[in-house]
Amino acid sequence: MTNILDVVKSKDPDQKEFHQAVTEVLETVQPVLDRNPEFRQAAILERIVEPERLIMFRVPWMDDQGQVQVNRGFRIEMNSAIGPYKGGLRFHPSVTLSILKFLAFEQVFKNALTTLPMGGGKGGSDFDPKGKSDNEVMRFCQSFMLELFRHIGPNTDIPAGDIGIGAREIGFLFGMYKKLRNEFTGVLTGKALAWGGSLIRPEATGYGCVYFAAEMLSTKYDNFEGKSCLVSGSGNVAQYTVEKINELGGKVVTLSDSTGYIFDEEGIDKDKLDFVMRLKNIRRGRIKEYIEKYSGAVYTEVDTSLDHNPLWDHKADCAFPSATQNEINEKDANNLVNNGVKLVAEGANMPSTPEAIDIFVENKLLYAPGKAANAGGVAVSGLEMAQNSMRISWPKEEVDNRLKIIMKSIHQSCVDASEEYGAPGNYMVGANIAGFVKVVNAMLDQGLV
Ligand code: GLU
Repeated sequence: MTNILDVVKSKDPDQKEFHQAVTEVLETVQPVLDRNPEFRQAAILERIVEPERLIMFRVPWMDDQGQVQVNRGFRIEMNSAIGPYKGGLRFHPSVTLSILKFLAFEQVFKNALTTLPMGGGKGGSDFDPKGKSDNEVMRFCQSFMLELFRHIGPNTDIPAGDIGIGAREIGFLFGMYKKLRNEFTGVLTGKALAWGGSLIRPEATGYGCVYFAAEMLSTKYDNFEGKSCLVSGSGNVAQYTVEKINELGGKVVTLSDSTGYIFDEEGIDKDKLDFVMRLKNIRRGRIKEYIEKYSGAVYTEVDTSLDHNPLWDHKADCAFPSATQNEINEKDANNLVNNGVKLVAEGANMPSTPEAIDIFVENKLLYAPGKAANAGGVAVSGLEMAQNSMRISWPKEEVDNRLKIIMKSIHQSCVDASEEYGAPGNYMVGANIAGFVKVVNAMLDQGLV
């Protein structure tokens, strides 16, 4: 194992986030390799860490001042053993090959856990939609698709949203794909309802994360009634996490964006959440505006000189990191434990550093890694693909019900795998092993390709 990690590191020494994701998986699947010598013989690890295909391209576009701008576009087609490549696109200035490779790697196992036939991929650009006009965003999306369209397709690779890509961007991307191919297919998920989208897709990641957390609580004969929760982020995942926690009788006291966070001791109820949704989804404003409307809340600006994030330093029962990677470090994890947090469910991808995860595990928290807890989003994307293929649209209750069943099944797979491999209660081990075994068996079935 050390050997393979060394190879990964020496091939791409700068890809820190990718190394982090690979290290976590390789460390936990060691007992599986010991039990199945054929996995080593087939050089499964060497193959699984190498993307099947990697596409990088120039994205030139013109801003509103008539200046030409150039960004970098990517699509990582990581693994297609159990289905066509599937995973979101991220538009954010922090996007690099390392970030997208880590996300694509995680996506492979996450998608395997959903029970649906989807391989893993991820893509995006270092383009920053923040502060751009609708026209600039449209021109960028059109230019991005002018290259991407030749690599994707409803049976090949099906992108979707992620950070910086919501309904608006999916619309612009889909419009250009349709024009170039002259076909109306389910090539992207997260589409608007009127033209092929699925009910519950916007809600799916947040709802799914809370369903997963509720399953974890039920193993302790507990539920969300009266639980106080810390949620980070204020985008799609965070918003619907708050909605579902409220519905189940819990209370959410924090939300954040890249400039700071709000703490509202009274709880972010339905009306306040409606305000946040309008603020973030329509006006595209900053979370700071929350305290202008609700004076009981406190706003704290991001302070990069601190060695921790004060959002994670409040008394609470549960935490839902739903912003971005590595947002909980060792100090934050200790703060959470010391403040009485008993459950952490990751709405974001890899929001906890390896040191933070160690602290959750040592302290026996109910800790759900992103690849299990946030799989509801891509799962409903899979359901959107199924509806597109059948040219029908399922009612809300049907999709929500299927989402619940999928999250329950992911929870069960994690529990079963963690018990089978001697780590009961460790959802990280369970998720990695369950996802890994499914993908690897498919790879073996299909020979050396
Ligand atoms: N970006 C989401 C994720 O991290 C959703 C991907 C999709 O729907 O394809 O899983």
